[in-house]
Amino acid sequence: MLDILFVKSAGLHSDSLRDIGVKDGKITYIANHSDAAPESKEVCSLDGKLLLPGLVEPHIHLDKALLLERMSEDITELRKAIEVTSCLKQSFTAEDIYERAMRIIEQAVRKGITHMRCHAEVDPVIGLTSMEAMVNLKKQLKGIIDLQVVAFPQDGLFHDEGMPLLIKQAVALGADAIGGITYMDADVGDHLEFVFRLAQQYGLPVDLHVDFSDNPKQLAIREVIEATRKFGMNGQVSVGHLTSLGAAGHAEAERIAAGIAEAGIHVISLPLTDLYLNGRGEHKGDYRGLTPISLLLKHGVNVIYGSNNVQNAFTPFGTTDPLDVGLLLAQTSHLGSAKDARQLVSMATDGSAAALGLSGYGIRIGADADLVVCSAKDARSLLYERPERERVYKNGRLVSQTEVKQYNWMSMEETVR
Ligand SMILES: [Zn+2]
Repeated sequence: MLDILFVKSAGLHSDSLRDIGVKDGKITYIANHSDAAPESKEVCSLDGKLLLPGLVEPHIHLDKALLLERMSEDITELRKAIEVTSCLKQSFTAEDIYERAMRIIEQAVRKGITHMRCHAEVDPVIGLTSMEAMVNLKKQLKGIIDLQVVAFPQDGLFHDEGMPLLIKQAVALGADAIGGITYMDADVGDHLEFVFRLAQQYGLPVDLHVDFSDNPKQLAIREVIEATRKFGMNGQVSVGHLTSLGAAGHAEAERIAAGIAEAGIHVISLPLTDLYLNGRGEHKGDYRGLTPISLLLKHGVNVIYGSNNVQNAFTPFGTTDPLDVGLLLAQTSHLGSAKDARQLVSMATDGSAAALGLSGYGIRIGADADLVVCSAKDARSLLYERPERERVYKNGRLVSQTEVKQYNWMSMEETVR
């Protein structure tokens, strides 16, 4: 007997309504709707509502989220954002980081996120406090949301002689990926060599912040492609931002995009931050500092997107809803067709799951029952209207439920959808 049977569920990739069964936290039954479906302890009648796999947030900074109230000025420049955050970090405690991170996680679960990769700051000011907080959070949240933790040297690896040891200690605490940042150390080659060697030593993927600027000459991505090849890490490297590539010359950008595709590098667009901090310099007015999404897609790159920051010096905006970020990209990257909408939803689900190496992901027999129920008729209405995530399941367990009430002004009656 099944634990839960979802009856008459719609999917973005199937034309017919399906019945989907869950047993012991896994999907064990999928078939076109039939009255002869197997018996189940619980039956959830969806009546044509969408049943999606859990949303995946591939790039977020939980430890420095929700800092707007502590800032005495508005920040409009990357270096200044790093500087101000560095100052604020001096007063971070484990409890403070935990409290702000939990506020974001609560929102994220309500939005249907079942997997999240976060970057934990590691530097001489904060030491291992943030890393420890994230690793503890990951253990505590097991069964609600799967958290991956990246050991992230925001200020670079070589600005302080204690950093190389500190980052190794951070990784040893239980990192899921090795972080790096190509624009904070003088020698990109040394930086990447250190990061990739550490990744190899621990058998972990690499997740880098790369080329976050409007400068068409800042193209460390070329060295990232080389390092990915050299260390044989095809498919295990993700890069966030990559906005300089959008400013680079056409022929050069095409060449690099082909190299990214060949090296199997996942590219994470972070438009909430990129649109806010980029496009203010000499390109002002005609250039907005985004990752060149269409170019990368044309070359077959796995392009995805993340929230990055939520309400801090880098990004005053943010709700944690991946679909908000997807809509922003639709509006700013000329991605308005039905096909584009399907692609953008796929980026927040299958594409991000691939970047995070999630083997149990998807709606298929044997996959983890990480599922989201919402009312949308197709990818466009899902993305453009961003309906409430009415039910969210993690490993077959209900972790969030939002009741949608509608008040009909004609009949003066309230109905629950
Ligand atoms: Zn970031």
